[in-house]
Amino acid sequence: MAVMSCVLAGRKLVKPVVIAVAITGSVPRKRDNPAVPITPAEQIESTQQAYEAGATLVHIHVRDDDETSSSDPERFAAVKTGVEKHCPGMIVQFSTGGRGRDPGQRSSALSLRPDMASLSTGSVNFPTIIYENHTILVEEMAGKIKEFGIRPEIEIFDLSHLHGARRLADKGLIDDTPHIQFVLGIVNALPAEERLLDILLKEAKHLFPTCTWTAAGIGRHQAKVMAWALARGADAVRTGLEDNVRIEKERLASSNAELVEHAVLAVERHGHRTATPQEARMLLGCRPVPMDQIR
Ligand code: MG
Repeated sequence: MAVMSCVLAGRKLVKPVVIAVAITGSVPRKRDNPAVPITPAEQIESTQQAYEAGATLVHIHVRDDDETSSSDPERFAAVKTGVEKHCPGMIVQFSTGGRGRDPGQRSSALSLRPDMASLSTGSVNFPTIIYENHTILVEEMAGKIKEFGIRPEIEIFDLSHLHGARRLADKGLIDDTPHIQFVLGIVNALPAEERLLDILLKEAKHLFPTCTWTAAGIGRHQAKVMAWALARGADAVRTGLEDNVRIEKERLASSNAELVEHAVLAVERHGHRTATPQEARMLLGCRPVPMDQIR
């Protein structure tokens, strides 16, 4: 395992790692876990608890009151405003993906200028659908992300998606230091295999030598993928009820915050520490927050 902390002038510098929390997603429902936050008020409260537990980036999908996926900019605005009020400095990331959304509406909230937005660069099979990201749609969304000065997080569900990202960079639609997230463990997409993370990471560093990166393990794969990422010096880890509603096989997570607490312990077990909001912004290339807004 690479030792990521370093020693400078006799002082051990411990690497800060960003903890991202994906609070809701487009799939889990209250019947799967009653702690899944659905309304904007629930989402803000759940995010605040996760922030206080150590998360510095929130990945947001919004839902209608019947729990179905929504692209309503007013809901995105309500969550963004609440998070900015109650979680000073936290990176706000909107999803431009999500099952059950009209593709033409997936970028409709970007004019709200969140700090970051997720961007998938290719299509992939999911358990029951094709997650469709054709090139014209991807380029349109990348163009809007760039237009509004938002930092993209490139979502990689397949090796070819890295080459899709490279083509976006060659066209000037994303920069040469993207933040990349590998997603492992979705049925019909990439399985959660450690050697696949190595292959993906090697290819990502070949195409984008200065990229930052993270990895998300879905469902029961969450904790082990996080450990693999931390062992390889990931800049961030991802947790949250979007990806996994359980703490153990037989026990549901009580909240997003409980999952974040487990992520904090994993970060510390690997000899790192959780990033502060300002550090998270610096690490991932987001705009800084004025110091007087940081607690
Ligand atoms: Mg998502």
